[in-house]
Amino acid sequence: MDKINVEQMLAIEEPFMKVPLEQLKRAVRHSQKQAERETKDMGSTVSSLIKRPASVEAGEIDGALDGMIDRLKTLKRKLEGAKQEEALLIQRSKQRATQLNELGTFTSSAQPEFERWCRARLDRVLIDYMLRSGHTVTAQRLIESNGLDYFADSSLFALVMQIERDLKEQHVCQSTLQWCADNRSALRKIDSSLEFELRLQEYIELIRVRSTTAAIAYAKKHLVPWSETQMPRIQRAMTLLAFPPDTQCPPYKTMFDITRWDTLAKEFRMVIFQLHHLPSQPLLHLLLQTGLSALKTPACVSEDAAEHNRNCPVCQHGTLGKLAQDLPLSHHVNSNLVCRITGENMNEDNPPMRLPNGYVYSFRSLNDMAAKYGGKVKCPRTGDVFGLAECKKLFIS
Ligand SMILES: [Zn+2]
Repeated sequence: MDKINVEQMLAIEEPFMKVPLEQLKRAVRHSQKQAERETKDMGSTVSSLIKRPASVEAGEIDGALDGMIDRLKTLKRKLEGAKQEEALLIQRSKQRATQLNELGTFTSSAQPEFERWCRARLDRVLIDYMLRSGHTVTAQRLIESNGLDYFADSSLFALVMQIERDLKEQHVCQSTLQWCADNRSALRKIDSSLEFELRLQEYIELIRVRSTTAAIAYAKKHLVPWSETQMPRIQRAMTLLAFPPDTQCPPYKTMFDITRWDTLAKEFRMVIFQLHHLPSQPLLHLLLQTGLSALKTPACVSEDAAEHNRNCPVCQHGTLGKLAQDLPLSHHVNSNLVCRITGENMNEDNPPMRLPNGYVYSFRSLNDMAAKYGGKVKCPRTGDVFGLAECKKLFIS
């Protein structure tokens, strides 16, 4: 009973390890590319200097060399900054690995150390939930008060929030396009069309303000390169030129629809999560659903409200029940009788008692009620009042 199933616990921790590793991979690749680009440029400058005729002015060579020195200094500064970020990500990965490794050292779930570990995990899960939902200040407070900086992906979610705001509120694509450019090869690997959708949006905005010439030039430059995979959509985009923004013609009305910006934000979130191996749902939901799936019975989904149990989270259709909506019914080998009044299990220590009107409640609930109301009990369903002595004990066979 007290044994910890380490493998099962680790199965849901994959994003916890993968996020900093993905960030590290990207950061290293970015610095590498920067260095390669500069080195290549330097190489061509040097060879053109060597090839110059002897008559060339010495001052001109000095100028070119000074320019190279300045560029190298800038590169050095950038690489030093990148190195610091990489060191932080390595440290973050190490701390997370140590945290998960601790799981293997616990021998029982009753150990206070294990309880502490679970408490820290709950904090992590709550931080993940808050950062995803934009409760950044509260999340930051929890991170600071419990020293969980290495366990939170604050910078990643800050970027997500910033870009989503740009799309949904400012209606600008610039920051998202820059992100696409920084992650072009990764986006190509997952066949993402996010960049095309952003380009299409910028094109639509040009048509909205009737800048037809600019829209055509934009389409030639940014939509045509996608013709291999997006030809039908490019053709439709070109036809859009003939329609005013208040058109009622369905496909074109949809293209002018302002909610397209919200769809772009959703698409961006899905893609950035995919690249970082983050699940689309918060971990909090997944963990709660695991518990709820074990509690869901046909009574929980019954249309008859009398069948619902006020102590059952699945029966709370406005709150936790929402998370259980798509879950299958749990498979119970043995049924449990649960008292409608207290929510406690009815068993030999707390036997079910039948009231004269046929309703059944636990002995403990009726006994407590009788102690308060002079030996009388009131059925919460019908309002009938009976003496405790009139209630009959039932035997479960
Ligand atoms: Zn229920």
